[in-house]
Amino acid sequence: MSKQEQPAQEKKPTKTYQFRLYPTHKQELLLENWLLLCCETYNAALDERKSAYRMAGVSLSYEDQCAELPGCKQVRPDLAPVPAQVLQDVVKRVDLAFAAFFGRVEEGKTPGFPRFKSRFRYHSLTFKQFGNSFKLHVEGKKKRGKLELAKLGLVKMVLHRKLIGTPKTAIVKRAPTGKWFVNVTVELSVKDLQEKRLLPSDEAVGIDVGLKTFAYLSTEEEIANPRFFREDEVKLARAQRKLSRAPKGSKERDRARKVVARTHERIANRRKNFIEQEVNQLVARFGFLAVEALVVRNLVKNPKLAKSIADASWSMFFTRLVAKAEEAGRQVVKVNPAYTSQTCSACGHRQSMPLSVRVYECPQCGLVIHRDHNGSLNILADGLHACGRAGRVIPKAPSL
Ligand SMILES: [Zn+2]
Repeated sequence: MSKQEQPAQEKKPTKTYQFRLYPTHKQELLLENWLLLCCETYNAALDERKSAYRMAGVSLSYEDQCAELPGCKQVRPDLAPVPAQVLQDVVKRVDLAFAAFFGRVEEGKTPGFPRFKSRFRYHSLTFKQFGNSFKLHVEGKKKRGKLELAKLGLVKMVLHRKLIGTPKTAIVKRAPTGKWFVNVTVELSVKDLQEKRLLPSDEAVGIDVGLKTFAYLSTEEEIANPRFFREDEVKLARAQRKLSRAPKGSKERDRARKVVARTHERIANRRKNFIEQEVNQLVARFGFLAVEALVVRNLVKNPKLAKSIADASWSMFFTRLVAKAEEAGRQVVKVNPAYTSQTCSACGHRQSMPLSVRVYECPQCGLVIHRDHNGSLNILADGLHACGRAGRVIPKAPSL
């Protein structure tokens, strides 16, 4: 296992852009071939480490295995066309898999050994060093661009948004639908960050996510669940049924698998667009945002599809909100989700609130309020309290 002794450099903030690629047929064949070769190299490097560890108790390092690559190219001339840095990254991936494995062993767990990858599960190539293994060309015309890859040349790319920052790595990947994308990770300088800053805002908001509505704001506004969430669920269920019924190895099954992949992709895209749009609006308007610290990972295992789609949306929503707020210089506070729906936002009284009860009626102070509105007010109050900015926010005079 390689030691992680990187020099203590100050880490600059990064951001990843995803752009669609349109390789020519020839380029696509070449990329497919590289993926196959990288997958083979991955499995070979993994095998070598496993044998060394099992038979001699020796841990090979990233450097050890990288040093072998030129020799591999002599034995296997078909590896030669793959850029050296791309192959080194394959070895790096094996290294990371082992580092994670040993990390779990040290935690006292008994993890499975890193596994071999099937060629169907190997779909990305990493190009490090901007200017060397990859370059970006933005053409005069709007949105048109080219990605230049070492030993492959110029690939058509659509820059649907302006790229800010200094590119560091590019990961070229094939989606299950057969489409190609590139993830460009950039480093942001202080100047880049300033460009993204928004005008300061004094407005604060508490956000309560729910199943009936996507989110409820303490300003008494609602972000509704888009109807396509439900429509897409139905389509996905239908496509999956078709796939499970198709005989193995048949053309029908191939087709059904593509439909499932396309449906998943469309769901992911629509969800992403919806969340991006809502997050942008929230961050543009509010200077302080309080949300629940939901452990979404635990919820995702719910067998109900509706629930799992909602969970995936929430986790993406929180991640994007935090990232976007940071860029824009906004403050996001995560509060403990316990009792946010059970507590009266006016007097602090607590009572049980089954999911079916949509209105909070406080027997102590007489407050009558929408369940989620009450929750969002508690979240805001807890968030402000956590930052020492204020205590409880008292809502409008309770109505009897
Ligand atoms: Zn009360």
